Amino acid sequence: MDLITQKVYGAEDILPADSYKWQFVEDIMRGQAQSYGFKEIRTPVFEHTELFNRSVGDTTDIVQKEMYSFTTKGGDNLSLKPEGTAGAARAMLEHKLFAAGYPIKTYYITACYRYEKKNFGRQREFHQFGMETYGAASPFADAEVICAANSIFDRLDVKNISLEINSIGCPDCRPKYHDALKEYFGAHKDELCETCHSRLERNPMRILDCKEKKCAEIAKSAPTVLDYICDDCKNHFEGVKNCLDAVNIEYTVNPNIVRGLDYYTKTVFEFVAPEVGTVCGGGRYDGLIEELGGQHTPSLGFGMGIERLLILLEKQGIALEQPPECDIYIAGISEKGKLKAFELTEGIRNASLIAECDIIGRKLMPQMKYANKIKAKFSMVLGDDEIDSGKAKLKNMLSGTEKEVPLDENFYDRFFAIYVNGANDTFMEKLGLNIQD
Ligand code: ATP
Ligand code: MG
Repeated sequence: MDLITQKVYGAEDILPADSYKWQFVEDIMRGQAQSYGFKEIRTPVFEHTELFNRSVGDTTDIVQKEMYSFTTKGGDNLSLKPEGTAGAARAMLEHKLFAAGYPIKTYYITACYRYEKKNFGRQREFHQFGMETYGAASPFADAEVICAANSIFDRLDVKNISLEINSIGCPDCRPKYHDALKEYFGAHKDELCETCHSRLERNPMRILDCKEKKCAEIAKSAPTVLDYICDDCKNHFEGVKNCLDAVNIEYTVNPNIVRGLDYYTKTVFEFVAPEVGTVCGGGRYDGLIEELGGQHTPSLGFGMGIERLLILLEKQGIALEQPPECDIYIAGISEKGKLKAFELTEGIRNASLIAECDIIGRKLMPQMKYANKIKAKFSMVLGDDEIDSGKAKLKNMLSGTEKEVPLDENFYDRFFAIYVNGANDTFMEKLGLNIQD
C-alpha cells in the first residue's frame, strides 16, 4: 500500500478490536461519577491560550513547552486543551452555574494535547477522565473526590495502586517554604538541570517534580513542605486524613508530591502503580476561580489518564467485559430471500438484539463462514423455497439443533421463544426476562 500519510507522531488510533475496553472503562467512570452526584460537562477542544496561561500557570512545563498553540485566520490565539480543568472552570463561570448554589460537581472525559516526547504511557494526544467540585472548602470535599477516584480502581479490580497525599499549603504559608527551597536548591545549583535553574527563581517547588535523575536525587533531602504549612492548612490536611481513615482508604503521606500545575493549594494527591507510574493526579485549587475572574471559590478535582489506566489493566491481566456477539445471522441465497433476510434482520434489531444479514452480495458458503466469524448464536437461510413455503429452519449454531419457524408476522414471537429457551442468563437479561417468571 502506498498511503499518502500516517497518523501524527504521538497520537494513537483506537481500533474496533480495542474500543470495547475504552467503553467499558468509561462506563465505570460515568457510573461512579453519577453515584457521587457529579454531572458531565463537555467543553470545546480549544480555548483562548490566555485561559491556560492563567490557570495552568505560565511557569509550568505544560504552558512553557507542551501546548499546541496557534493563531487562527481571524487572529485569535488558541490552544488545544492540555488538561480538562481550565475549560470546565471557564464554562462553569461563563454560564454562571454557581447561581444555582454550591457545590457544583462536574466530570469530563476528554482528549488532551501536550507536545511531549512519546514514551511509555506518554502520548501527544491522550485522554483524561476528571472530576471537579466547586464551592466546597471542607476536607470532606477533598475526601469525596479521592474516594471517587479510588472507587474506579476498586470497580476495575486494580491491584497494588497506592494513594499518596500531601499538602502544599496556601498563599499565606507557601512563600516561607519557597524561601527554604530556594536556599536549599541554591546551594546545589550546579548539580541541577538547565530547566531547574529557571525553576529555582520562578517556582522552586517544581524542582521537586523534576524527572531528571540528579535533580530527583537532590530533591530527596529538600526541606519538607509539611514543616512549613500554616495551622489552617494543617487542620485541613488532618481533616482529609480523618475522612479517608473513616472509610478505610489507605494512603501514604508523600511530601514530594507537588503536581505539575500551578493552581494547586492545600491537598494534592496521586494514585501510583508500579507498572505505569502516576495514573491519577489531583488536588485542591482554591485560587483558580479567582484567577479566571470569578469570586473566591474553593475548588478541587483530579485528572485520570485513561491510556495509562488501560495499560495498567492489561499489565495486571484484568480482562474487561467483551461486547456482545451477534444473536442471529440471516443468510439470503436468492433475490427474494435476501430481501426477506434484510426485512427480518431489521425487525430483530428493533427488539435490541444483534442481527446481521449479507450486505456485500456473497454466496451461501461465505455468508455462513462470516456467521461463524462473528459468532452468531443462531442462523437461518432464506432462498426461494423458504419464501414460497413461508417457513424456514432456525439453527442454534452452538448445539446444531434446528427448529422450524414461520416467515409471516409470527416469526418474531417464535424466534424470541426459541432464543430465550436456548438462552443463557445474559440473553435473558438482555430481553428483560426472568426464567422463574
Ligand atoms: P507526568 O508527571 O506523568 O507527566 P502530569 O503530572 O503531567 O504527569 P497531569 O497533568 O496531572 O499529569 O495529568 C493527570 C494524568 O494524565 C496523569 O497522571 C497521567 O495519567 C495522564 N497524562 C498526563 N500526561 C500524559 C501524556 N502525555 N500521555 C498520556 N497520559 C498522560
Ligand atoms: Mg507531565
